[in-house]
Amino acid sequence: PRPIELLRQKLEETHADRARIEAKDSVVHWFKCDLRTEDNHALHLASQKAKGEKVPLIAMYIVSPQDFEAHLTAPVRVDFILRTLEVLKEDLAKLDIPLYVETVENRKKIPARILELLQEWGARHVYVNEEYEVDELRRETVLVRACLDKGIAMEVVSDTCIVRSGELQTGSGNQYAVYTPWYRSWVAHVHSNPECLELYDSPTKNPASARKKYADIFKSPIPDTPPNKSLTNEEKGRFRSMWPAGEHEAREQLAKFAKERINNYDVSRNIPGEVGTSSLSVHFASGTLSARSAVRTARDSNTTKKLDGGNQGIQTWISEIAWRDFYKHVMANWPFVCMNKPFKPEYANIEWEYDKENFQAWCEGRTGYPIVDAAMRQLNHCGWMHNRCRMITASFLAKHLLIDWRMGERYFMEHLVDGDMASNNGGWGWSASTGVDPQPYFRIFNPLLQSEKFDSEGNYIRKWVPELKTIKGKAIHEPYASGDVKELAKIGYPKRIVEHKFARERCLQRYKEGIGK
Ligand code: FAD
Repeated sequence: PRPIELLRQKLEETHADRARIEAKDSVVHWFKCDLRTEDNHALHLASQKAKGEKVPLIAMYIVSPQDFEAHLTAPVRVDFILRTLEVLKEDLAKLDIPLYVETVENRKKIPARILELLQEWGARHVYVNEEYEVDELRRETVLVRACLDKGIAMEVVSDTCIVRSGELQTGSGNQYAVYTPWYRSWVAHVHSNPECLELYDSPTKNPASARKKYADIFKSPIPDTPPNKSLTNEEKGRFRSMWPAGEHEAREQLAKFAKERINNYDVSRNIPGEVGTSSLSVHFASGTLSARSAVRTARDSNTTKKLDGGNQGIQTWISEIAWRDFYKHVMANWPFVCMNKPFKPEYANIEWEYDKENFQAWCEGRTGYPIVDAAMRQLNHCGWMHNRCRMITASFLAKHLLIDWRMGERYFMEHLVDGDMASNNGGWGWSASTGVDPQPYFRIFNPLLQSEKFDSEGNYIRKWVPELKTIKGKAIHEPYASGDVKELAKIGYPKRIVEHKFARERCLQRYKEGIGK
């Protein structure tokens, strides 16, 4: 059985025993990737339980440097999480709910430490939202049992996806491996189960006595950034102004996007030089915004009041959020895809290049392909890259440079503020043709055509590759072909590290040999 099934089995097996447990001194909500008070399933249930049993609610978050390491969490993302915890602590304090945050250095000790805390607080109920990463699923499965042995009921509920993983199945009862039919069934499911988009009430106020009782927790600070994820002062300043933290920010941004840009999303989403997308991924990844409220807001703005039909921009945006669900379902069903394995076994036989210089040139945006270089520099500067450019750069690494896609997948995770294991793996698998429902291996993005089509005026390139700023007109896409070669060499813009025609042929041959075509 898959880790997700083991967890769900364990919850089912222990259901009756957990239901018998009565509250003692408090109820606990354990925050993870759900850093918000609004529309938070587990937090809502924890609050209801606390209210019903007339005991206070305590919230907790465990900072785990080793988990950050294992998940390749980018320092910019860790900083975003810690800043969000500050906001959350303040918001919860207004409801007299204390938020306890502790760093646990050794990840193996997390379950034992949680048990200790629960016992210290006299908590007999702890609530948590389900996550789909294997390590988390295994940890939670162990904890459900360990809690029960101490007379504590741990409840793990579904929250992050609009439709719970495992819910949608093909006619033969399997997980879909193709997005389009999966999406049709996702839409149909949500329409026939309107509760999928019902929002959970925010937690209610704790009894005033909680203030005094948990004074120590209210006063306790949010821990410092773990040393393995620290930022320089310059980076802190830069990233903090770009990525204001917390759920209020997320909601404001969603409202603005729904008012000003969503209607035109189907057209503007592909132009990296424009602000055409929502930039909400950081909030979905940290849980400062629920996918439910985003889809609900979009649906309510649609003329049909449905997920499909009506306004094209709205439909398309909803279908992009559906991709997020799709990849989480994929990860839950085929956990091996996020463990360095291609979806189809024959793709494991492709012989990759491990050219360090080429990889470095790609990382730093020095490939001589302006659109690729602009995109990589955007990533390095912002911790974020436009979706069109994620596809272009991923394809370039895997197909033009024939460098193992897993190196790129890792580099993205280590730098993205919105790093999400399932979506990142899905995007790399799609681009390198090694994943679930990928683009066929023989489709090889031509970076020049992509550049001409999606950055036709060269605005994006000029912004991120400033040394090319003075190049006029279409020459921006291929400066050495039509620009002044001496001048380009003087400004230090590199020549192409690989020629498109050669790269294309080499790629086709290598993939064919690998997969046995
Ligand atoms: P919008 O266009 O406004 O879309 C709204 C939301 O829909 C996004 O915030 C995101 O949650 C979801 N979404 C959109 N496109 C996709 C997609 N293709 N797959 C899954 N979800 C999607 N997204 C991440 O959140 N984290 C990642 O680590 C990540 N890595 C990627 C790696 C590669 C190689 C590729 C090709 C795509 C990756 N994506 C990832 C998907 C996508 O690029 C980003 O979600 C998007 O660019 C975020 O910008 P936005 O919030 O403005 O998106």
